[in-house]
Formats: sequence, C-alpha cells, structure tokens
Amino acid sequence: MVRRAMIIGLDSAVPELIKKFAEEGVLPNIKRLMDEGVYGEGFATHPTLTGTNWTTIASGTWPGTQGASCMWTHFEGEPLNRVHSSFLSTTSRCERLWETGEKVGKKSILMKYPCTVPPTIKNGIQVEGSGAPWYGLDPFEISPSMCFSNYPLPRARHVELKAASGWSNVPRSYSKPLETAVELRSKSVESKVTYNVLVIDSEGKGYDRVVISRSKDANQAVANLSVGEWSSWLKEEFEAKIPLYPKYREDDKIVYEDAPVKRYTGTFRFKLIELTPDAGRFKLYQSQIFPTTGFTWPESIAKELIDNVGPFQEHIGPNPNFCNWIDDETFLEELEYQAWWLGKASSYLLSHYEWDLFFLQWHGPNHAQHAFWGGIDPISPWYDEKNASKYWSYFRRFYGAADKMVGDIVKHADEETLVVVLSDHGHIPYVYGAAMIGNALIKAGLLAYKRDSSGKLVVDWSKTKAYPINSIHIYVNLKGRDPDGIVEPEEYEDVCNEIISTLYKIRDPKGRCPIAFALKKSEARMIGLYGDRVGDVVYGMAAGYIACLEPTEDLEEFHFIRGAISVTDDAGLGQRAGPLPPNTSIHGSSIPSSRLGLGSIRVPLIMRGPGIKKGYVMRNHFWLVDIAPTVAYILNMPPPANCEGSIILEALSQKP
Ligand SMILES: [Zn+2]
Repeated sequence: MVRRAMIIGLDSAVPELIKKFAEEGVLPNIKRLMDEGVYGEGFATHPTLTGTNWTTIASGTWPGTQGASCMWTHFEGEPLNRVHSSFLSTTSRCERLWETGEKVGKKSILMKYPCTVPPTIKNGIQVEGSGAPWYGLDPFEISPSMCFSNYPLPRARHVELKAASGWSNVPRSYSKPLETAVELRSKSVESKVTYNVLVIDSEGKGYDRVVISRSKDANQAVANLSVGEWSSWLKEEFEAKIPLYPKYREDDKIVYEDAPVKRYTGTFRFKLIELTPDAGRFKLYQSQIFPTTGFTWPESIAKELIDNVGPFQEHIGPNPNFCNWIDDETFLEELEYQAWWLGKASSYLLSHYEWDLFFLQWHGPNHAQHAFWGGIDPISPWYDEKNASKYWSYFRRFYGAADKMVGDIVKHADEETLVVVLSDHGHIPYVYGAAMIGNALIKAGLLAYKRDSSGKLVVDWSKTKAYPINSIHIYVNLKGRDPDGIVEPEEYEDVCNEIISTLYKIRDPKGRCPIAFALKKSEARMIGLYGDRVGDVVYGMAAGYIACLEPTEDLEEFHFIRGAISVTDDAGLGQRAGPLPPNTSIHGSSIPSSRLGLGSIRVPLIMRGPGIKKGYVMRNHFWLVDIAPTVAYILNMPPPANCEGSIILEALSQKP
C-alpha cells in the first residue's frame, strides 16, 4: 500500500496545554493519537513567528536558507525600510514537501496552509493559503469585518438612529420604530451594498429587535434579530480586486500588486451585538465578506466546498474584540465556525479526491491565546482569580474545537497514513514590558529621525547607522549595499558591536536586561540565521518581554505597555471591554526555548502511523526543520531540495 501523510497544524498550540487538556478529556482525538503514536516537544526556529515556521515545517529549512526570515522580510539592496510579506510564496526560496512530492508523482491537498499563495502546486488542490493574521490584509477578502455603531468605537462606522419613514409591512412595535442604513463596502474598489435597518420594540419593554432588509419592506427582510443572534449567511455582489497581494511595505504604507476588477459574490452574516432599550447604544457586526470564487485551485473546488460545507471565512482574528465591536462570545463563535468548516471541508476533499500529502493549519489558537492568556495565567499582570474559570472555559472551547477538527480529518487516515499534529511556536505570557529598541538606538546615536514637510516623523538616513526591523533584525546602513548607506565597510564590525552593547545596556525598572541574546549575523549561523535576508545583528527577548521599535518622545529605553500591542497589528490599540488589554501573550522575538508562567515557546509534536513508535514519549527535543525530512523518510520519498533537518530517529519503531 502507498503511504500517505497528514500534517495538521494548530498554530501556537502550547505543549503544556495540549498535555493538560488531553488528560482532562477535552482532546479525545489528539489523546488517541498520542496513545497510539509518539508525543514530543521541540523548538521552533528563531524568530518564533508563524510564516517562518510553517515554511520551515514544510521545507526543513532554517530561516536564512528559506529567505523568509521574519513576518516582513527585507531584501538586500532595497531601501532598508522596505519589506516583503513572508506570507507570500514568492518571499521564500525553498522547495516544500508538496513540490518535492509532485516531482515523484504525489498529489497534495493544501488546506489554508500559510505562505502558499500565489500557489505553486500543479496537480493537487489548494484552498486559500495566505495565513497572514492581520486584520484587513487578507488578499482574497472583499471586505474585512466591520461594526456599525451609534456611539464612538475604534475603526467602527458611525451610524445614527432616527425615526423610521417610508417602510412597509412594519412589524408591531410598542415604541416608534427607528431606522438607519449600513453600507457594506468592497475594500479595493468603490463598490457597496446598502442595507436598511429597522429598530423595533416588539414587547413593549423598549427597543429589542432589528429588521435588516435591502428595501424598506420588512417582508423582504433578510434578518430579524434580537441581541446575540446571528443572521443566516447572506450573499451579495461586489466589485473587487482579488487577489490583492502586497508587493512590499515601506514604513506603514503597503503597495499592492494590481489585479483586475471583477464582480464577485461575497458571503457574510450579521450579528446584533448591542441594543439598549432606549436605543442609546446600538452595535451591529458584519463578518468578513469573503468571495465564493477565486480562492481555490482548481477554481471549481470553492463552489463544491461552499455547496457541501458552507461559506468560508478566512479571518477570525481578535481585532473586532480588541476594538470592542464584539464580545468574547462572538469571537469564540467565529473561531469555532472556522475550525468546524476546516474539519468538514478537509473531510470532504480527503474523501472525494486522490491525495498523498495533506497539509492544514488552523490559526485559531494563536488568535485566542493572544487575546485571553492573561485570564488564565497567575503570572500575568491582568490575572484575576475570580475570572480564571471563565477564561479557562474559553481555552477548553478553542482547544476542543481544534480537536474536533483533527477528528474530522484523521478519520480518513488508514494504517499506512502518517498523521502529524504540531504547532509552529508556543506562547508565553506578556509580563514585564517593552525594551524600547528604537529609543535606545537613537540615544546611542545610531538611529536618527527628522520631520518631513508634512510634519511626519521619518528616518533621517544621512545620520542613521542602524535600522531595526520587526521582529529580531537590526541592519547596519552600509555604504555600497544599502541605497542610503553611510557606514563605511571598514566601520561595519564596530557598528555591529555598538548595536549589541546598546541592546545589552537596556534595563527594566528592576535592573534586569530584557535581551536574551544579541549576535552578529556572522555568529548567528548556529540558529539558522545567515545570508542576505537576515539583519546584521539579530536578537531575542528574555521571557515575558517584548521589543518595541517605534520611537517615543521621552526616549526612555524601557516602557510598560498595556498589552503587547507591538506584536500584533495596529487595530489592537482598541478599547477592549473587560479586564484584559488587547494582547496578553507573546512569541516572535521570544526565543524558541523560553518558558514562563503556564506557557512555553516550545512546540508539541504528535506522530502516529507506519514506522512510528506506539504510546511513546520522546526524551529528546527536535527542531521544526526535522519534520519535513522525517515525513519524507516515512513516505520513502526524497526530502525537499534545500532540506537541512534530520530524521527524528527517536520516534521511529523500525526502518520503514
Ligand atoms: Zn503561528
């Protein structure tokens, strides 16, 4: 029989929680795989980021080799403030298992596996595959999610409620009906759809329901909602540019590849989040508007999945929750929907199409842990014992949703199928504060800013010797290599040394150094960082600290920032309701071996199948570069061309 493999990725699943929840019975499918296979813990590559590590898992390469060395990667010779999204397949330059597989006649299914668009598969099936976790940056969405409110909320669209007029078939209302209109807009072109919203008092206890209709005829309504209710999935036509791939980013400006404007059907749903009896507070949520075509290869797969499973929603991130558009419950419901959809859609493809290799990543645990970790971990500054059981119940829900998804997939694994369940990095709580790396470099005379003609603060390249790029790279502004280079090649070593000593001088209020290590690129080969896509100095943060590159007026070298906002996107600056700030746990610049509180950055690995030990817990640690060669070995296929990892011998029961 031909051997096959399933690689099931649970983004940022933490070993400590996998073990705990498996013991508790929250993860019956994962527990069964552990009992019938091996369980181990290992290290991500540094930086401990999503794009980098999913590419490592699929290719067996270190970041220096794969060339996608951070969330956004600088290409040598371009302006130092220009970076490329590592979630595009074009940013990495390594062969991945599905490409290796195609060379030997194997077919792959890629289900939302990160960093795989534009697609490179030729004979297989691919569903989406950007994986970029940022709000509003999905290349396929028609519109990100939106909130319509009649009071100020960050980034929400303001609407006014006024006396309703011109409606027909108005349902019984004990108070005078109110109305507003909400506009759904395509993000790439001027294309919008307007819905009329009628607000009624159905029981004489104050306003309690909304009727949503394209026309002002309540009999044509697409939804009639009370607080906490979702509409069914709705469909509308929009014009949009899809896919909208980012060409590069300079500072906060993203330049996109162009795409033709076409008409797409978009699916979405509404949820009434808030309506007070006096209608003083009204909040209506619109989920991400995702097209029904254009995000699968072959094209026809999208329709098959939507018809057989339901509409796809790519972005289920915490930003709407951080901006107080939606409550925790709604955030969890979106997470659960996506995990359910991925499980069912995978199950459909695995049973209807030929495959040898299957790859899936679910980003849900990462989004949810950033949002809620502070609620469960006593070391977190925001931990409050009286709320802990509520937050633990959230964790059981999204880990449980991951387990159900795993169950839907592994039922298609036979005795000759290798099942691999793993994460790309763990999480640790954000506890201590931020090393203000930009400020420290400015104070050391290595980095300079000036005001441009519009008054905006911009880098003064004529006085800048060192430029930091999120999350771990600092570049020397080198003459002859960088467009605005001022550092002579003979000064290069001195500037590198100066950057390193500047980093090590940073202290928190208790006198501790927040930097775990800082290395010259020439010395960082041991952690896979080398070559033309890596900073001249690389660093990692001690557990519980973050790095903040943005300069502040005070030029202080250390700040306590409420919520680790610099590791997520800017919409995290919201006014989240409840005790937790926007972002309560971290990874990325945290080092692969970090442990803190209930968490760790290490990754869990579960393998079951031919040639794998049964019921065995590995004593040794592995690296994520070891996954691809191990899978290739079990399947008796060559490892990916650039593979640098080793076969995880300890997991093998015999020569396959
Ligand atoms: Zn991740």
